[in-house]
Amino acid sequence: MEISEIQVDGYEHVARCRDEASGLHAIIAIHDTTLGPALGGMRMLPYASEDEALFDVLRLSKGMTYKSAVADTGLGGGKSVIIGDPAKDKSEALFLAMGRFVGSLDGRYITAEDMNIGIADLEIVRRETRWVTGLSRESGSSGNPSPYTAYGCLVGIRATSKEAFGSEDLAGKKVVIQGVGAVGGRLAVLLKEAGAEVVICDLRDERARELADKHGFEVVDDEAHLEVDCDIYSPCARGAGINDETIPKLRCKVVAGCANNQLLEPRHGDELRKRGILYAPDYVLNSGGIINVSVELLPGGYKEDVAMKKIEHIGDALAEVYAISKAEDISTNEAARRLAERRLAAAKAK
Ligand code: NAD
Repeated sequence: MEISEIQVDGYEHVARCRDEASGLHAIIAIHDTTLGPALGGMRMLPYASEDEALFDVLRLSKGMTYKSAVADTGLGGGKSVIIGDPAKDKSEALFLAMGRFVGSLDGRYITAEDMNIGIADLEIVRRETRWVTGLSRESGSSGNPSPYTAYGCLVGIRATSKEAFGSEDLAGKKVVIQGVGAVGGRLAVLLKEAGAEVVICDLRDERARELADKHGFEVVDDEAHLEVDCDIYSPCARGAGINDETIPKLRCKVVAGCANNQLLEPRHGDELRKRGILYAPDYVLNSGGIINVSVELLPGGYKEDVAMKKIEHIGDALAEVYAISKAEDISTNEAARRLAERRLAAAKAK
């Protein structure tokens, strides 16, 4: 196994691993550990080149630093990528080698699930290193993060409603959710329980119909969902959905969903602001999952009640973001970025 460092300005440590025996070709990026060890998921994709993988891992690890700084998890930002086809290239040897690679960083990087990596894969990684989180509840780990992400979104939507409508009460508020998968589906139920009128859409028509039959949601076509008049639009499917084409169609006062990287470009946050639409920055709203995982690393290990209490603070974090946005006359996404940078700078100055 050959591990070599890649020098990248602004990153604490970036390493590449090549292992001929198992076929592993991977990169781990540790962006910043000022606030704690760098935690971030492991993903596997058939990147066309190492440069493409490097671009992805750098972008994602930096994002984790900001997310954890605002969510106050006591963690830094990192990420890992395996270059390969998840349908063809997964093997026990590959994940054992990845475990040795993660272990070589001695806990400065802690891994978790991400795209195309499941608990079964991480359990193999865990045989070589203890720096793995998000394994099953039975094994003492924090388990599936999605219900916690959904709960954090509910907390954040309440705080955002307070800012936009003057009250946290969601009774009678009309919410359109795009994507009712693991997080969006649970969020829809929580919103309904809070008294909201919930409209859903999903490319998997069957999934949307099944949820609608069970919980009484209205279903709309993905094509038409943006144009439904509503109070809150909640993108819970995929990234880049807020862009030049979609913004003029929005008929809402708030955009607040769990999907990562909702804004195609940061300037789309300014566009929303100009139109009087309050945007709940995605990585603040969807931080319930990482907060839940971070509790595993506290002395005494994972406790659900501790996680739930910490997730409640997403509301405070968003209130702080909205206060900065107003005071400094900037978009909420820029305000979240400034909040993260200020927390990092304050910790560095200590
Ligand atoms: P998921 O795959 O379980 O659900 C996504 C759902 O969106 C699926 O039902 C899919 O059919 C639907 N979908 C995809 N494209 C669509 C489109 N164009 N229109 C309508 N529906 C569409 O994923 P998830 O775990 O629920 O995550 C959803 C989003 O939240 C992702 O962007 C993910 O990165 C982000 N996120 C998830 C977590 C978590 O804890 N799972 C944490 C943070 C962020």
